[in-house]
Amino acid sequence: MVKTKAIMIGAGLANMAAAVYLIQEAHWQGDKITFYAIDDHGSNDGDEAVHAKDDYWNQNHPTENHLGFIARGGRMLNYRTYVDLMDLLGRIPSATETGMTAAEDTHEFDAKHRTFDKARLLEGGKGIINGGKLGLNNKDRALLTKLIMMPDDQEERLDNVTIAEYFKDDPHMFQTNFWYMWETTFAFRIQSSGQELRRYMHQMIYEFTQIEHLVGVNRTRYNQFESIMLPLINYLKQQGCTFILNRRVTDWHFKQTPLQDEITVTGLVMTNTLTDEEETVDVDEQTAVMFTNGSITDSATIGDLTTPAAENMDYGAASSLWKKATEHFYNLGNPDKFFADRNASEWVSFTLTTKNHLLLNEITRITTQVPGNALNSFLSTQPITALGQKDVNMSIVVHHQPHFTTQKPNETVIWGYFLYPRRKGEFVEKPYIEMNGREMAEELIGQLSKVDPGPGNIMTKKTAIMDSIINNIPCYMPYASALFNNRAKSDRPKVIPDHSTNLAFTGEFAEQPYQMVFTEQSAVRSGEIAAYHFTGIPASKLVKNPRYDKDLKTLAKATKKLFS
Ligand SMILES: Cc1cc2nc3c(=O)[nH]c(=O)nc-3n(C[C@H](O)[C@H](O)[C@H](O)COP(=O)(O)OP(=O)(O)OC[C@H]3O[C@@H](n4cnc5c(N)ncnc54)[C@H](O)[C@@H]3O)c2cc1C
Repeated sequence: MVKTKAIMIGAGLANMAAAVYLIQEAHWQGDKITFYAIDDHGSNDGDEAVHAKDDYWNQNHPTENHLGFIARGGRMLNYRTYVDLMDLLGRIPSATETGMTAAEDTHEFDAKHRTFDKARLLEGGKGIINGGKLGLNNKDRALLTKLIMMPDDQEERLDNVTIAEYFKDDPHMFQTNFWYMWETTFAFRIQSSGQELRRYMHQMIYEFTQIEHLVGVNRTRYNQFESIMLPLINYLKQQGCTFILNRRVTDWHFKQTPLQDEITVTGLVMTNTLTDEEETVDVDEQTAVMFTNGSITDSATIGDLTTPAAENMDYGAASSLWKKATEHFYNLGNPDKFFADRNASEWVSFTLTTKNHLLLNEITRITTQVPGNALNSFLSTQPITALGQKDVNMSIVVHHQPHFTTQKPNETVIWGYFLYPRRKGEFVEKPYIEMNGREMAEELIGQLSKVDPGPGNIMTKKTAIMDSIINNIPCYMPYASALFNNRAKSDRPKVIPDHSTNLAFTGEFAEQPYQMVFTEQSAVRSGEIAAYHFTGIPASKLVKNPRYDKDLKTLAKATKKLFS
């Protein structure tokens, strides 16, 4: 079972992490590792728009304005629970800070720029509201406590139970500050998985006590491509790993066996996305294949200031290949649970670049905090949910500036998102998904105007702010929340499925104990597990994860918080 070579399908964080552990813990030469992938950033993108426009998913959706920057998402890290990620970053040099590891780089930046959110929730007519008052009643508390107390070995009780179903007799839960903060910090919806909510309540229990200030959130110095992926790419290339990009792996060759349950990959079929030519790569018995079987940014498209992001109906590169594997074997999960319900998973985000600090200073005035400290969510003043309740309209993250190393002096970059793209704007009368960048900026200014404490409402500066915009790039991500979709435990393949001799599943759509999805942490851990498995390193050597959910002091603090 011990392997001497590896093929990586997908060059995202999970597989790059696997490669680092193969090199450093199993002492492989880098040239034994080959990546086949569409691109070398996966979800962790971050670039000048002029480069991003040529990405695989954007090629068929031309835009006119290629100025400014784009990052489809922004990442909040949490050192306390992201122990595998921090272990990984401690093993590679920073791409921007000479003499530091990527972990030291992030620690140093973060120590000087602590997150302390003063305006986590804002509401029209009220301004900043006190999110620290969670607003839970006894029924909410009882149901949350039940989740916190449910042990790991009983989580299958929540197989196929949505959050809405779990709280079916308690719609009050979805009108609490707790829920507004929880849904927008982590991107849960009421139709998301109850099982995953249980995992979050366990792994994030420590942060629960300080959620209104996001005190536990740590951030990288720059966007995650430059601060996380680039250090990995530089290191792996220097070690001799081969990156073959512009390849979409489309099919498998598996060994035929009498019982048909042995999973042994013997070949991969792929398309060269530049030439459309098909290629087959043989896989021998010495080779492990590590496959990231789902990507939440697959099929994501971008627009620009005057163009909305188009809807790309592609099933996704990762999920299509995963589906092909499930046609051969019965124990590899159900990709449709995650990738056939866009209504449950889609988001629209935007990356706004301005030539000066005007908008930034207005946001600072309104939220009373400097850039880099916060995630601000705007609550509706009218009912907007299917249950006839109020909810968050949109959220923004004002990064510490600069967020990209190539930003010009005074240029600013702001990121924001709409969790429900089919809802209509309040200031621009159309669904967010149909808005271009200009309209999204207008909607943002409108939302800010509703919570502006004055004197002098931001609306009076609207023309100047709009004139300051270099570009605002909408991004439609059909699968952004797919990993939260309602599921049973068996819907995701194990990192090492039963009867697999050389195939591992990595990333957020692989089942591994305890870890929660939508985290750089679980992606890294899956790669580490795969690397250790195929090199005979015992699982006991994996990075130790703290269990705050079993720590009495933490539990006591969380209980107290439930009553605030
Ligand atoms: C908007 C947004 C916000 C986020 N916020 C946070 C946050 O606050 N905190 C946090 O910790 N995490 C956050 N994340 C999640 C984090 O980015 C992911 O958990 C992580 O990047 C997953 O890494 P991965 O390697 O598993 O997958 P990916 O980064 O998706 O990489 C997998 C790559 O493999 C490629 N691939 C797969 N199959 C094939 C194939 N057949 N052929 C060719 N290529 C293939 C895919 O196309 C993809 O490029 C966020 C993500 C998004 C999109």
